[in-house]
Amino acid sequence: MTKSDAAKLSPLIRTRAQLEEVERQSLAGFAQKSGDSAGRVHRESPHPHRTGYQRDRARVIHSRAFRRLEYKTQVFLNGVGDHFRNRLTHTIEVASVSRSIARALALNEDLAEAIALAHDLGHSPFGHSGEEMLDELMKGHGGFEHNLQSLRIVETIEQKYPRFAGLNLSFEVIEGLKKHAKFYDPPEKEGTPRGEIYHSPSLEAQIANLADEITYYSHDLDDGLEAGLIQPAQLEELEIWQTCLKLVRKQFPGLKGSALHAYVIRCLIDYQVEDVIRTSAESIEQSGVQSAEEVRRQPKPLIRYSTELLQANRQLRKFLYQNLYYHPRVAGANQRACEMLRDVFHIYLEKPVLLGKTTSLRLETDGLHRTVCDYLSGMTDRYLIEEWTRLSRA
Ligand code: MG
Repeated sequence: MTKSDAAKLSPLIRTRAQLEEVERQSLAGFAQKSGDSAGRVHRESPHPHRTGYQRDRARVIHSRAFRRLEYKTQVFLNGVGDHFRNRLTHTIEVASVSRSIARALALNEDLAEAIALAHDLGHSPFGHSGEEMLDELMKGHGGFEHNLQSLRIVETIEQKYPRFAGLNLSFEVIEGLKKHAKFYDPPEKEGTPRGEIYHSPSLEAQIANLADEITYYSHDLDDGLEAGLIQPAQLEELEIWQTCLKLVRKQFPGLKGSALHAYVIRCLIDYQVEDVIRTSAESIEQSGVQSAEEVRRQPKPLIRYSTELLQANRQLRKFLYQNLYYHPRVAGANQRACEMLRDVFHIYLEKPVLLGKTTSLRLETDGLHRTVCDYLSGMTDRYLIEEWTRLSRA
């Protein structure tokens, strides 16, 4: 008995068609419904009881690149403290914030979540310092950028399905990963005029994009405080901190020390999420968009912060760059790790025979530099350190 036969037989199992109908009935007109998807590059038969985006989400979670996020640096080198965020916990926080915003605006939670879960798959080991180093090493060979690498992973590198390379995700998830693309490709779907240039992705993609920022602003502050690299007194200069501090003091006047800071961080996320929900609801209403296609024709994203919060976040971002990302304790450790990355890169360039059997198969199509770059960027922090130790002893 096939899965679809089973679904037909039991009235207890909700079918995909029923789930798509639930979306049509419960989501806003401008939400991206899974039943209206432009589909996948490689045609596949629809699942009997899961929507396309639920399937995409599962494909991302079951990918190798997703599992490796656990051992990749967010800001603090992986392994230096058990409480600090890593790429995986960051990703889960982004997915959670994305779902909250999507739900409040009657948008497609599954799509927003699938994009959020995939958004950092392309990060190299050692965070942004690792990315800069790889980009430098790839000068003249196409460079390295983590957003493009996330796309490369889901479109080419993951090898799991017999009929195609990559995960064959829905167009709308891929669209959401083209974060810094100037224009978004139009879906090739009947009724959509070919060659039309879209300026914005779906609202669900815009949510995942902003949720990423909201999440790292607050958790990097949290980790910076926990590590003792940021002193609570320094935060007083931040407008957003002051605003949230006032709110917390009103509610819990006796709260002090780390309990106070932990609760202010919690409120900071809440404050940002509420601001985005409120402001975006207004901008969606003012734009008059009625469908997901009309959203894509908008000149600017409709999911946004209020002007006041945008200003406050610019100040916060500057603060984090000045006081955390380039702090000697963060930058120094990352610098040493990046030197290892550079050494291992050169060793592989000189001796491609050291690349694994599966990786070597790509040499012919992708060339030596790109193959080495893909291989290294996929490594976790700890594996790269192990490789460096092993290869430099050889
Ligand atoms: Mg991120």
